[in-house]
Amino acid sequence: MVSKRLLPLIPAGLVVDRVVTGPERVIVTTHPSATRAACPACGRSSSRTHSHYTRTLADLPHQGRPVAIHVRARRFRCTTVDCPRRVFAERLPLVAAPRARRSQRLGDIQRYIGLAVGGEPGSRLAHRLAMPVSGDTLLRLIRSARWEAPEALRVIGIDEWAWKRGQTYGTILCDLEKGRVLDLLPDREAGTVSAWLKRHPGVAVIARDRATVFARAIRDGAPRATQAADRWHLLHNLGDALRAAVGRHRGAVSAAGGIERSRPEQPGLHKVPVCHPGIDELRNERRQARAESYAAISKLQADGMPPRRIAREVGMSQRAVERWLAAGGEPEHRRPPVASLVDPFRPISTAAGARVAGTRGSYGGRSWPTATRAASRRSPAGRPRSGAPTRLAAPKPLRCRPPRPGRRGGGAHGCSGASATT
Ligand SMILES: [Zn+2]
Repeated sequence: MVSKRLLPLIPAGLVVDRVVTGPERVIVTTHPSATRAACPACGRSSSRTHSHYTRTLADLPHQGRPVAIHVRARRFRCTTVDCPRRVFAERLPLVAAPRARRSQRLGDIQRYIGLAVGGEPGSRLAHRLAMPVSGDTLLRLIRSARWEAPEALRVIGIDEWAWKRGQTYGTILCDLEKGRVLDLLPDREAGTVSAWLKRHPGVAVIARDRATVFARAIRDGAPRATQAADRWHLLHNLGDALRAAVGRHRGAVSAAGGIERSRPEQPGLHKVPVCHPGIDELRNERRQARAESYAAISKLQADGMPPRRIAREVGMSQRAVERWLAAGGEPEHRRPPVASLVDPFRPISTAAGARVAGTRGSYGGRSWPTATRAASRRSPAGRPRSGAPTRLAAPKPLRCRPPRPGRRGGGAHGCSGASATT
């Protein structure tokens, strides 16, 4: 009896005659639905049957059991007079390749398994999936696969790639049109990148970072390609340039800020929030310390000392020393006020924390590190913003001034030093 539910599960072009379901496997007996077949030598179609034979094909499993398809195939006589093939076996192009022992679709699945996990592990997995195959056959399936020739590359991106962060770096190349990785090179030498580019001619646009080694490699390996900075590096460059410009004119910037703050408030205009005096005090101290460091660095440079020795002398990294000297002054770390998800709850958590913890600096009844971590977890991006200053200021009870009359709790930045009981 033929199960109609099984019919769509059989490869196209076959008609099911019988299904035998055993405890170990399912056997489906079929015959081709076509009444004619084309001679593989001359291409002429023939319907003159010469004889029959049975082909056995392994197919996709059914309900955890391997499936074998028995196909009652035919041999035909070729009717072309001068054709060298007098008799030919009919092909099953939608089912399996000539002389294959497995259906095309089973071979595809087994090849995917082999590609994913390899020969012997793939064989063990395939046995568990009721598609038994040997490891050698899996490797043979992989080798016999037809690969489409890759299209010519047009727009690619080059950047560094960390094999081991801080120690070993390579080069990653991506196809920016298709958004996929093309290759990983073992190092970031100009010669390696240049050789790769020579093997892939036709690249029109290459996006890269600011590394001169990549610029040199592109000039050598793909001289006709246009070099472009990618979006991230463009913004990074812009940020660096702005920082340097503001650093050079920080006196004028501070004066402009003072004028802006002294203006009377106008309706409809956003008022820049004024920081707590304690924070200003702390910032001024740090600014003063940076100015003193820069003065020391300038003096040492004027004495003819190289940046490496200056760095050792003042206890800074050589890169920072070079950056400060290039900018012509110490950096300005003032950060514009940023709205936070925590802002609406800050007064509540500060007042509650002050009541719970008495005179000790507290943040919502929790310790400072816990509160900071919790605030970071609630950042809009869903993760802590590494490198960015936290939006809650660190507790400095000794620097806090007494609260102003009429205000409850501590300052806006959560300082609750002497105000806990008011
Ligand atoms: Zn023929």
